[in-house]
Amino acid sequence: MSLRLFLLLNAISALFTLAFPLYTQLAFTLPISIIFAMGVLLPIWHRRYPHKKLKLTLISLLFGCLWAWHVLLKARAIHDNISVYLLVALLTVLFIGAIAFSNNILAFLFHALPVFIICLWLNGAEHALRLVYTFALPVLGIAIQHAIQKRNDNFARDLMHQLMQEQKALNDLSMLDPLTGLYNRRGMQNKLDTVLALDGCPRYILLLDIDHFKAYNDHYGHMMGDQALIRVSAALRDAVHSRDIVARFGGEEFMILINNSDKEYARLAAEHIRQQVYNLKIPHMFNERVATNVTVSIGIAQLVEGDIDSALARADKALYEAKHLGRNNILVSEEERPATTPCALTLR
Ligand code: GH3
Ligand code: MG
Ligand code: MG
Repeated sequence: MSLRLFLLLNAISALFTLAFPLYTQLAFTLPISIIFAMGVLLPIWHRRYPHKKLKLTLISLLFGCLWAWHVLLKARAIHDNISVYLLVALLTVLFIGAIAFSNNILAFLFHALPVFIICLWLNGAEHALRLVYTFALPVLGIAIQHAIQKRNDNFARDLMHQLMQEQKALNDLSMLDPLTGLYNRRGMQNKLDTVLALDGCPRYILLLDIDHFKAYNDHYGHMMGDQALIRVSAALRDAVHSRDIVARFGGEEFMILINNSDKEYARLAAEHIRQQVYNLKIPHMFNERVATNVTVSIGIAQLVEGDIDSALARADKALYEAKHLGRNNILVSEEERPATTPCALTLR
């Protein structure tokens, strides 16, 4: 945008210089006609090939040199009393740069510096201080503007980064169960969506329920109940591979997705889990007729064609039957489909 404005201002200034020259001597020069031609043609060319990059600093330096060349030719033709002409020429160049590059100090300098040097060289002895002042003032202003803009940009970038981090943290938190740190239902669904979209690996669903947990709560208290849930959750997480997904399904129920497994592997995994929970030896004197510590019952079902609802219903039925078989038990749903070919999983 600032390049187009820069080219437009240059074309207008060159046209004005050609049409209404300050001095009649050498009204037409080669550099001024090049400035006009480039000011008109470059935007047209750029519109035609928008993907081609034009380097702003290079273009501004080129125009600066052309203006300096024009000023040199013209000042030599005028001979006497060139101070006014030089001042007007320098002001014109500074004016264009200040409008087009109000916060690009480099482009501004590249454009203005050649003319400033020429003016200083041609008229330095007489008006050096005035020329330096005329040049330095906008340079200082644009440098300050540039610094402010950079600080604002950095601030906006940092803020954006912080917001994105916070959004990610909030998003992660909304996927996790605050008590156990496992995925909640939402987190599980989210993970499932990702995993199931990957491939058609055979998978099994495990539905776990702590046995007689109401009695545990009633006798040991809710706080102890929470502690037991935390310890069981950690044991579940430790008992499976990192590629498997463990979620707190609600209350004292958990769901585990065993990736890339057949029926026997899923049953062995469930047995390992049951044993690990048992081995925690969390005292539970009211786990009637089962044990004197906390135990879990597990229902297993095959996940077929990503149909989670159906798999959950079958796992729930198997869990219900496992409870009836006496708890601290595992049951595999018999409603099976032919297993798909195992495949390598790289999920974490
Ligand atoms: P069953 O062996 O048939 O599963 O019996 P149960 O007593 O475990 O089943 P029930 O569904 O009757 O009771 C579940 C209990 O789990 C009820 C509630 O007190 C307890 N519970 C659920 N969520 C939490 C929790 O976040 N913290 C604690 N401390 N207890 C919970
Ligand atoms: Mg329950
Ligand atoms: Mg229970």
